[in-house]
Amino acid sequence: MNLVAFSIRTKGAHNFARRLWTVFARFGFTDARSRRTLLSILASVRKYGGSPTFFIPAVVLRRHPELINEIALCGAEIGSHGYVHNDYRSLSGASQHQQTEQALEVFHDVQLQCLGFRNPYLGWTDDAVRSFAALGFGYDSNEAIIHDVVDRSQLTPTLRAGFEKSLSLFQAITPSAYTLRPHFEGALVRIPTSIPDDEMLYDRLRITDQVALGNLWQEVMSRVYGLSGIYTLNLHPERGVLCKPALNRLLAYSQQQPLPVWLASLREVELWWRERAQFRFSIEPLGETSWRIEANCTPRATILARHLTVDNAPIAEWTGTDCTVDARHFTVQAALCPCIALSPRTSNDVEAFLYEQGYLVQRVETDTDRAARYALALDIPDGLGKTRSEQIEKRSALVAEIEALEKPLVRYGIWPDRACAALAITGDIDSITVQDFFLRIVEARQYA
Ligand SMILES: [Zn+2]
Repeated sequence: MNLVAFSIRTKGAHNFARRLWTVFARFGFTDARSRRTLLSILASVRKYGGSPTFFIPAVVLRRHPELINEIALCGAEIGSHGYVHNDYRSLSGASQHQQTEQALEVFHDVQLQCLGFRNPYLGWTDDAVRSFAALGFGYDSNEAIIHDVVDRSQLTPTLRAGFEKSLSLFQAITPSAYTLRPHFEGALVRIPTSIPDDEMLYDRLRITDQVALGNLWQEVMSRVYGLSGIYTLNLHPERGVLCKPALNRLLAYSQQQPLPVWLASLREVELWWRERAQFRFSIEPLGETSWRIEANCTPRATILARHLTVDNAPIAEWTGTDCTVDARHFTVQAALCPCIALSPRTSNDVEAFLYEQGYLVQRVETDTDRAARYALALDIPDGLGKTRSEQIEKRSALVAEIEALEKPLVRYGIWPDRACAALAITGDIDSITVQDFFLRIVEARQYA
């Protein structure tokens, strides 16, 4: 499907006409306007010590290598947004692989490193995820978490229908402590992204007031913070200058939280997730109610404990009943063993999943009295779901159950250096000039 048909299908003919009008307002015939807007986003994020991540179709990169290299040199991370701006869901697995490879070649030609992928229209597929890993990408940022911060009952039927069409287009997933974390799929780290994005809010719902828009983004940040997740803001650079006040409000708000919010590029998030995946605990009983715990981790790890007394190590307040433990060897006193007991017949994928989530896990017989001596005893021989939706549901439920336990528990926090949540400012550079915008229509048709 070409861009015109696609846009009309998802936005309506009237909106498409309006979109054409804005194209000339937002893009110029040279790269000057895009340069200004990219540098503006960079400056906002740099001010708070972070780096933004931009994704770009390879054909656009090939037309503007100097500008994108300049942005990268200023500290932005650049990832791939396909070879052309098309929807992978309409391509065969072989074509997806081939176009992903072609995109990498362009990055190679212009001497830019490329380790992340975000599909146009967030149109990822199982084939694409396999190709990303096979071609050496470190992460993708495609899984769309819908934050329900817009009161849809207040929208006109047309706006509401359009909004809901976007949700299904983006294969929206509900937020939970689990879905707001990165996760491994084979060798690939998958980092969730957030919707509604700026296009849905600013262009479609016409929330152009910067205080109102900033408040919505703050509301998302507040909810993500509550679940210790990541907020991946998607701000298309074409709206970077228009939405600068709202972006600055969000950044300021994220830094005002009681605990740190880690402002990071997606590549930094990916590397952290790989580092954290190696962390393990070992635990050894010293008596009926006493254990020696050793944390095998890097200095960046955040160690959390609840409903127990920590001997011989400094602790600091965290959220709720959790505290952080600032030591790698420590002794705890607790009514129960502060770890999760797994029955011998529980499948290995459950154990791997719990390790990835940062929990302290031990294999023990869970049908004996012994199981009652642990914070939680699990017997899950059938694993955590077969289909993707079943897996999301079961994994979310399990993480929610563990996070809600009012029992002794030691685990690794999700983010480094005592951060409670993460914020990534990202944007898809779909076009740089007016010419790029119109070439998209031709290119997407050529590679359909
Ligand atoms: Zn795009």
